[in-house]
Amino acid sequence: MSTPFEIGGVEVPRGRRVTLDLPAAKLYTHTPLTMPVQVARGWREGPTMFVSGVIHGDELNGVEIVRRLLRHSALKRLRGTLIAVPVVNVHGLIQHSRYLPDRRDLNRSFPGSEKGSLTARLANLFMEEIVDRCDYGIDLHTGARDRTNLPQIRAQLEDPETLELARAFGVPVLLNSDLRDGSLRQVAAERGVRVLLYEAGEALRFDEVGIRAGVAGILNVMRKLEMLPAAKARKHPRPEPVVARATGWVRAPESGIVRNAVPLGGRVDKGQRLAVIADPFGERECVVTAPWSGIIIGRFMLPLANEGEALFHIARFRDAERVEERVNEFQDAYDPGPITTT
Ligand SMILES: [Zn+2]
Repeated sequence: MSTPFEIGGVEVPRGRRVTLDLPAAKLYTHTPLTMPVQVARGWREGPTMFVSGVIHGDELNGVEIVRRLLRHSALKRLRGTLIAVPVVNVHGLIQHSRYLPDRRDLNRSFPGSEKGSLTARLANLFMEEIVDRCDYGIDLHTGARDRTNLPQIRAQLEDPETLELARAFGVPVLLNSDLRDGSLRQVAAERGVRVLLYEAGEALRFDEVGIRAGVAGILNVMRKLEMLPAAKARKHPRPEPVVARATGWVRAPESGIVRNAVPLGGRVDKGQRLAVIADPFGERECVVTAPWSGIIIGRFMLPLANEGEALFHIARFRDAERVEERVNEFQDAYDPGPITTT
């Protein structure tokens, strides 16, 4: 006899895939609003893992990652249960907004509460219906609007099992985060659910390298957890991931028009030119230099900056040259070449 698996009042039998809608707060037009969920349950018992996208309503890569994951043939051999939630912040996605209509950030509102704000209630729904049923989770994000991120995993890496899963994911850069910030990964970890946060690309855009690496990464983690059979020998060995020692943002010293001089994933040396900020007449120019050596793991995409704007996110490593090589190998491995519809 297998243990029954029930979610949102719907029972999911072994070997079945069920789509269900968790009721969220109605719209004021009387229109019902739901959080769509698909649960895939293998024939054999195993761990339960959630994959969530669009906790921030304008971060779209996750929707596409979940779509490709659910259509992947590997899932036919699933052991355990996969709970896919492509759009957590339904309100935000409809409005192309990071936030909910009450202007709160869902990823600062966990665990939420039944009687709290609109955002707190959505956080509570996600915790009770999804997270509390899981052993593991992967939460999919992108950079904020006008900011792009090199594919990277953020997680509580002091925990050895979380570190092992982060390494299994297969992106070159890992960041340790242990902030008590009301984020899903922090609150889930406190409840014994190990969560990786995957960051890649920018808000309101699809990033093909980030999407491909995201799908591959989730499958890699599922193999590590034996939710999927081990992969055959790889054509391209996975570049060994490296944990950053520290990260920091370089801010615009002045307002102006920005000409960028370094690519995402590039290595920079202390003192190297990162960008030039000019006035529209080109009469006054200000050079932005790297305050420390490292790898560019995030950057501002808009060529316009106000003084204090965060322009470059630089991660420091013991051996940045080695990380740069791995980043290049990684980007080549997932480069889509000419655009196709996958
Ligand atoms: Zn996000």
